[in-house]
Amino acid sequence: VLDAERARAWLGRADELISLHAEELTALDAAIGDADHGANMARGMAAAVAAVAALGQEEAQTPAAVLKPAALALVSKVGGASGPLYGTFFLRAAGSCGQLPELGAGAIAEAVEAGIGGIVQRGRAQAGEKTMLDAWYPALEALRAHDEPAAAARAAASAAAVGRDATAAMRATKGRASYLGERSVGHVDPGAASTALIVQALADVLD
Ligand code: ADP
Ligand code: MG
Ligand code: MG
Repeated sequence: VLDAERARAWLGRADELISLHAEELTALDAAIGDADHGANMARGMAAAVAAVAALGQEEAQTPAAVLKPAALALVSKVGGASGPLYGTFFLRAAGSCGQLPELGAGAIAEAVEAGIGGIVQRGRAQAGEKTMLDAWYPALEALRAHDEPAAAARAAASAAAVGRDATAAMRATKGRASYLGERSVGHVDPGAASTALIVQALADVLD
């Protein structure tokens, strides 16, 4: 299950994976954007982890109480499009968790669904527009297909990676990559790649 401690571990592992892959994320963004996605995400996740570390033990009793300050840190510390989008994701996910002390697979799927709703509301993109949503949607579908949280998260991580890879064939119609039009085809979307890492981090901590 995803409790407060594992929510904390999720952010910590996501920070670790993003740092490890920051150069790759930046290289992807160099091809179809402005070459800052690795730096944006590394800065944002480090700020998120620091915000959570600053919480007192009695303040961080639920997943929502952990995810909310992380979300606010992402919004305020990342200048690029991805900061507000991921920030809104975690804020809405936290809202969906409410006061629940721990989330099973069903509640995790609901939280991810709520988070995706925030990304859509903020960025107005749909599936197939070569954004982080093209990794989040398949992850959600996989989460819904499993009853056991660790198995659900593992399936979601695989699905997000497949979704990430599928963005290579897409033409970007939202965000900076859309300026390239047809020339965006053939490159993986950086935000889909960071989403795959964040979902992988969840699988790592629920295992
Ligand atoms: P910026 O483009 O401002 O430099 P980043 O490089 O950090 O910001 O993030 C770019 C990523 O943000 C893209 O690869 C894409 O996945 C995601 N993105 C951009 N615009 C949108 C949008 N409208 N909806 C969903 N995701 C988006
Ligand atoms: Mg960028
Ligand atoms: Mg930028």
